[in-house]
Amino acid sequence: MNGFRIARIGKIDIQLNPSVLVIVALLAWSLAESIFPELAEGYDAAEYWLAATATVIAFFAALLAHEMGHALVAQREGVGVRSITLWLFGGVAQLEAEPDTPGAAFRIAAMGPAVSIVLGVFGVAVGALLNGLLGIAVLWFGVTNLFLAFFNLLPAFPLDGGRIYQSWQWAKSGDPVAATDRAASAGLLIGAGLVALGVLQSLAGNPIGGVWMMLIGWFLRQAARQEVRGSAIRGPLSKLKVVDTMTSYPTIVDPTMTIAEFIPQMFFGGRHAAYPVGTSETEISGMVTLTGVRSVPRTELETTTVADCAIPLDRIVRSSPDEPITSLLSSLAGRDSSRALVFDGPRLVGIVAPSDLARTVSIIEVAGRSIDLTSPMSGSDTINS
Ligand SMILES: [Zn+2]
Repeated sequence: MNGFRIARIGKIDIQLNPSVLVIVALLAWSLAESIFPELAEGYDAAEYWLAATATVIAFFAALLAHEMGHALVAQREGVGVRSITLWLFGGVAQLEAEPDTPGAAFRIAAMGPAVSIVLGVFGVAVGALLNGLLGIAVLWFGVTNLFLAFFNLLPAFPLDGGRIYQSWQWAKSGDPVAATDRAASAGLLIGAGLVALGVLQSLAGNPIGGVWMMLIGWFLRQAARQEVRGSAIRGPLSKLKVVDTMTSYPTIVDPTMTIAEFIPQMFFGGRHAAYPVGTSETEISGMVTLTGVRSVPRTELETTTVADCAIPLDRIVRSSPDEPITSLLSSLAGRDSSRALVFDGPRLVGIVAPSDLARTVSIIEVAGRSIDLTSPMSGSDTINS
């Protein structure tokens, strides 16, 4: 889920997916033209639209607060947060990794609905005290937040309630992958239930609400399927090390070589899109990539050296053969270049490119989680010898 950045809170990018604008417009329109005039009579159109706009802004601020609840607890549990994106069906906090323990998973999942419940109770209490349009608007805000909390607490993975259910199953069985499978099955079932409810609602004469419900149910089922696939990969992936995925002993390119000499030698002879640069495996100064070489003008190919267009070492993610792949993936997250150089002490022993990771993931998918991938491939003995 992507969007354009609207703010940065702490180290977290706050993004807005363009689909939000559809919802903002629909919501403001239905509040101003139908809901508010019905519940609080006697105001003019401008007042309804003003109240509707303020309410919609408050509603999205509350959605953001819900996601910030997840994000702040995640950070306190040591899980990095890449971004929060608001989109068509609410908000998504993108975490850099999975929580380590069921307790952490529970606390991260529970804080979002907790924030919504507090805002909801506050809105209902204050709204009941106020009169007229203002009271109705605050009341609507409160009730909507309570509904949001209730909906998110459905035990349907990947909704918050499904994550809470997953953490409970995880604590009981000790197996996060099996727990995710269970919670996702509930997600598939509840998603199907929402689709069925949507159909009934449409037949009963509320086609807009019905289609909306069907869309949410369908989206929930898609997300649940994706999570099952993700966790099936994360399980085995968490046992693998960088040595299992890296390309060992890549060709090291001499920094004084010109690009004109380098292109035919590497890109036509080799099959990689990036090479370490240096004079020996203990004297590495950077990495040269196809993208870097492409930026060199044709007329300067003879005069530009590999060193001129290499990425310096301090801007490259460095890894060791024994580092877990999942930890390397966290380091690569959000970097411009998704490649890492692998060092065993001072010595370069490998390179990890997106193609290496894609191949590893494909192997895991083919092999399935029943096969222990760690036994024949792991072990740094081949590296240290
Ligand atoms: Zn949530």
